[in-house]
Amino acid sequence: MSLLVVGSVALDSVKTPFGEAEEVLGGSAVYFSVAASFFSQVHLVGAVGVDFPKGHLSLLQERGVDLAGLEKAEGETFRWKGEYTHNLNEAITHETHLNVFEDFRPRIPTAYQHCRHLFLANIDPELQLSVLDQVKSTDLVACDTMNYWIEGKLEALKETLKRVDILIINDGEARELAQEPNIARAARAILAMGPKTLIVKQGEYGALSFDHEAVFSAPGYPLEDIRDPTGAGDTFAGGFMGYLAKAANLSPLILRQAIIYGSAMASFNVEAFSVDRLKTLTYPEIEERVKAFKLLSHFDIP
Ligand code: AMP
Repeated sequence: MSLLVVGSVALDSVKTPFGEAEEVLGGSAVYFSVAASFFSQVHLVGAVGVDFPKGHLSLLQERGVDLAGLEKAEGETFRWKGEYTHNLNEAITHETHLNVFEDFRPRIPTAYQHCRHLFLANIDPELQLSVLDQVKSTDLVACDTMNYWIEGKLEALKETLKRVDILIINDGEARELAQEPNIARAARAILAMGPKTLIVKQGEYGALSFDHEAVFSAPGYPLEDIRDPTGAGDTFAGGFMGYLAKAANLSPLILRQAIIYGSAMASFNVEAFSVDRLKTLTYPEIEERVKAFKLLSHFDIP
């Protein structure tokens, strides 16, 4: 039941057609941990600067996320500034300030080195590799990345991909990574880079999962109130990995269920800025939305 995540802890400034938020809690490891905490015990490894507001950690603490691996480093917290226009599937990055992540060298506490499930959230692939060098035995390793690293650290990213079981990225990133516009062909090319499973997130249209045997399609939930898509991908990954960490095995059936739980978590997260919707979310609400997902695409052949 133990799940380790290494990723960014951020102060995000985000503008969408529905409003804006300045310096709010964000970061890949934050969205992931809060989502996964509904299913499993989560250990977070990351870094914040001396300017990080103390109150921002209370939600993580309330959700039982173990923060022993969160370093407080000299310098400023990682900051990301982005915008969504009417295409809510695509974030436009205005600023990325790595700050404490420039010198961050993840140190995995001895107690977590035998974690069964590991998620390498969106951070520098060189840091992802250094985490892989430190963990001793895992049942499942998944990772995320983004165009920033595909364009800036491709060789390190390819090394990471050789060592992970599951890659979770969005469709634009999959096309860019594979240098192939057709998504099915791009998926085949990425599976050849190492991961046994590729999950392609398609924003409001859902997600596709590819492995060497099959393709699975999860719908997007048709929400009427979307306010901020930031963190949808990490929230998806948190629900997905949290569910897998709780499950008894990693059968194809369980993997499909985990994709739907991840999709349900992401569908809640986009209803508000930062992690605000996850703050009030309850487990019965998650179960109800998972049932709605089933109804959404279930049909019988006569
Ligand atoms: P997503 O789930 O893709 O919407 O991820 C959004 C989160 O990623 C935001 O909260 C950002 O703080 C974080 N982020 C943006 N750029 C980077 C980066 N280059 N490295 C790590 N985290 C990032």
